[in-house]
Amino acid sequence: MNDVVLTEPLRVGLLGCGVVGSQVARLLLEKPEDLEARIGRPLDLVGIGVRHPDAEREGIPLDLLTGDTAALVARADIVVEVMGGLEPARSLILAAFEHGASVVTANKALLAAHGPELYGAAQRAGVDLYFEAAVAGAIPIIRPLRESLVGDEILSVMGIVNGTTNYILDRMTADGLSFGQALAQAQELGYAEADPTADIEGYDAAAKASILASLAFHTEVCGADVHREGITTVTPEDIAQAAGLGYVVKLLAVATLLDGDAERVSVRVHPALVPMSHPLATVRGPYNAVFVESRNAGRLMFSGPGAGGAPTGSAVMGDLVTVARNRARGAAGPAMTPYTHRPVAEVGDAKTSSYISLQVKDAPGVLAKVAGVFAKHGVSISAVRQTQLDGDPLTANLGIMTHVARDAQVADTLTELRTASQAVSSHIRRIRIEGE
Ligand code: NAP
Repeated sequence: MNDVVLTEPLRVGLLGCGVVGSQVARLLLEKPEDLEARIGRPLDLVGIGVRHPDAEREGIPLDLLTGDTAALVARADIVVEVMGGLEPARSLILAAFEHGASVVTANKALLAAHGPELYGAAQRAGVDLYFEAAVAGAIPIIRPLRESLVGDEILSVMGIVNGTTNYILDRMTADGLSFGQALAQAQELGYAEADPTADIEGYDAAAKASILASLAFHTEVCGADVHREGITTVTPEDIAQAAGLGYVVKLLAVATLLDGDAERVSVRVHPALVPMSHPLATVRGPYNAVFVESRNAGRLMFSGPGAGGAPTGSAVMGDLVTVARNRARGAAGPAMTPYTHRPVAEVGDAKTSSYISLQVKDAPGVLAKVAGVFAKHGVSISAVRQTQLDGDPLTANLGIMTHVARDAQVADTLTELRTASQAVSSHIRRIRIEGE
């Protein structure tokens, strides 16, 4: 190589200039000489693709903005996709690979839907696809799984990967707010969108869970493979009862090797009781954290801001510098390695302990009848807590903790309890327990 080639700028095409893209643009334009020194080649931001190229944006030269995203991609060495959505993001990334450009993306929804297609296309083209910002914003978790821990054997990954729901559950826990009140507060503070469905119903966390599971277990997991339950049915009573037992309620993304069958993985998103002594229990407000257990490194916790323009922009810039360094050396970084082909197990095969809350007639023999239904389905009870229902001397509230059981056995137990006995109210709540 001669000197001219070594100092030639790497052309960066930025797709999107919203919450994240505007911060990436700022960081790119702010200290170009530092980036050049770290990479060994200058970066040249050749354009920013947006829907509205004529709109004024603070700190962004208007001549960089373009509505012609295909033309921008065609003249870039590295494409940074922070526009979101499935299309045109997917087609633009595939087009980038076709002409030999590397790609950095923050788009978890796209990776959850089309990850294997995109990973395969990048590998065939011999270019990079990096996506640190797609899971847990600023927190380095993709690179630790993809590189630092790749010589180890991951046993489980458990994360609080959605800041909106963690904020809501935290307010419910700290202030006794209802779900609706906590959601309204999150919306006022900008932690929740006007349409919060993707967060509160667990879709966002499920997309991230699929990415984490694919990396941790070297297999292909899509968002649709992930069992998903949101937080809309969690009540202040659930949270208070959990606290009385030494637990907090968190929305968890869980990816584990299946207990007793390591050839399959269990990937799920649901509210869970987490012991107060567990590191994830201490994660407050809109923060994120991912807890990894591996055979040799043991237990590792990664935590920090999970969203926001500047934190997410930092993760995108980390990828951009890494990808640029790879290109400066004429190399590509690690590809995805889905060689295990481990299938995702049905949620019925997952094994957890559970907390079950139900209301029963406070009469002789009822407790024994309830215990009999659990025993019939092979679910072993570890503790029962009985409290009187306020203002109703004839009804008792039972809080039942179970030992570890298959999810399907617990589901069958609850179905029978709901239908089989007049003494049990049909309002039965179950929350899985994780992290014990
Ligand atoms: P955003 O604020 O809505 O910005 C989207 C940008 O993309 C806008 O500049 C928009 O142009 C442009 N855009 C959208 N569709 C386009 C199209 N069809 N053609 C051209 N331009 C288009 O989104 P964001 O919050 O920055 O999120 C971007 C990505 O980062 C998403 O994949 C998101 O999941 C991910 N992410 C975001 C965060 C976060 O904290 N926000 C955290 C982690 C990951 P206009 O400005 O002209 O409308």
